[in-house]
Amino acid sequence: MANVDRLFRGGTVVTGEGYRRGDVAVSDGRVVAVGKDLDVQAREVQDVGGAYVFPGLIDAHTHPVYLDDLGGLSVTAAHGGVTTVLHFAYAKPGQGLVATIEAFMEQGREGSVLDFALHGGLFDPARQSEEIPRAVELGVTSFKMFMTYAKLKWMTDDYQLMRTLDIIASVGGLGMVHAENGLATDYLEDKSAALGRDPAEDFLTTRPGILEGEAVNRAAAMAAVAGCPLYIPHVSGREAAEAVSRLRAAGQWVYGETCPQYLTLTGEEIARQGPLAKIGPPLRGEDDQRVLWQALAHGDLDVVASDHAPKAKRRDDPFFEAPYGSPQVETMPTLLFDRGVLGGWITLPRMVQLLSENPAKIFGLYPAKGTLREGSDADLVIWDPHSERTITHATQHSHAPYTLYEGTRVAGRPVGVMQRGAWVVWEDELQARAGQGSFLPTRAGTVALGALKPKGGACPQE
Ligand SMILES: [Zn+2]
Repeated sequence: MANVDRLFRGGTVVTGEGYRRGDVAVSDGRVVAVGKDLDVQAREVQDVGGAYVFPGLIDAHTHPVYLDDLGGLSVTAAHGGVTTVLHFAYAKPGQGLVATIEAFMEQGREGSVLDFALHGGLFDPARQSEEIPRAVELGVTSFKMFMTYAKLKWMTDDYQLMRTLDIIASVGGLGMVHAENGLATDYLEDKSAALGRDPAEDFLTTRPGILEGEAVNRAAAMAAVAGCPLYIPHVSGREAAEAVSRLRAAGQWVYGETCPQYLTLTGEEIARQGPLAKIGPPLRGEDDQRVLWQALAHGDLDVVASDHAPKAKRRDDPFFEAPYGSPQVETMPTLLFDRGVLGGWITLPRMVQLLSENPAKIFGLYPAKGTLREGSDADLVIWDPHSERTITHATQHSHAPYTLYEGTRVAGRPVGVMQRGAWVVWEDELQARAGQGSFLPTRAGTVALGALKPKGGACPQE
């Protein structure tokens, strides 16, 4: 009989592979055994019968540069059930890519309660792309550019996109793009303004899904020429999802992510919530939502991530001037469980794949992260599937002044959130201290698409 630090007894252990009743034994920050009726002596035994035990959830898409800094973002993420965050280190024009990455690493080491990794974000690839090989040496291997926001001067033109994908490919990294045709959407926005139309009413028609699909195809064409794997964050609608699916069927390494907001809200929120619901790409229609859920279920999209971008916005602010983005990380797991699993769109193991196993694999963190098996980090979530709550801003931990889900009733709650064998959150109370998290070097874009497909069994509708 082996001695271990801690034993979770009698829960339903859920990974991307499937689920079964079993125990999880943890020692020295690692999982040391998973199985039925483990014969171990533990310093602490916890009965988790009736609960699910998930591997720590991973949010592959966060922005710690608005109202939540790197530390604050990790706190709000942890309260939702997330144990690892992948932040975008945004190098604005005039900033160096490596200097930006180093500053984010420093902030994370000081303030993060969770393990974290970084993506590079290039606003001025003409000057910043040469730093990519050095960034890779530092452990940052995925790099995003914007094909949109031309008027904001965030857009990368095709020359620099081709060049940068070529550089990323040469060092074995992963390319990422915000896929929307920025010049075309800017024209449509200018035309709407010239006609004196309401920018809120025209928000969707000036950013149609077909211009998102076009950008996915254009970026993928260049990625194919460069031999660079490509990751499309925040796929928001039918055309982009279908483009990803078609490219993959043709054999190209294009990974696809969507976000809880696109799965649970539609463009009608703009009429209800005004600029709070201003997000790029925009919230679209019910048909788009259906396509996204089906793509997740069938394995045509691989990841759900939050695009957490909390901004100081109020419902009555002028729409046109309001910034893009919304707080999402803390509500993401419960929304995916409630709407996705209980709503019948995806199985429970598929949920764990989308929120843990697949991002771990795509960013090279697997199997330390993304699963529960002997040798994995003891990152886990004790999940109560029966607990019901009403989402309200007052109980959220983001510094955003609102949540888009105010008043929404959801089932499923993380009772305990553990990283490397220590509680980060227990019963809604933060247990971790700032700076407890570690920086995780990534090795992005090396996993084949076949490894990301759904494989779990049916969902127990308890
Ligand atoms: Zn984003």
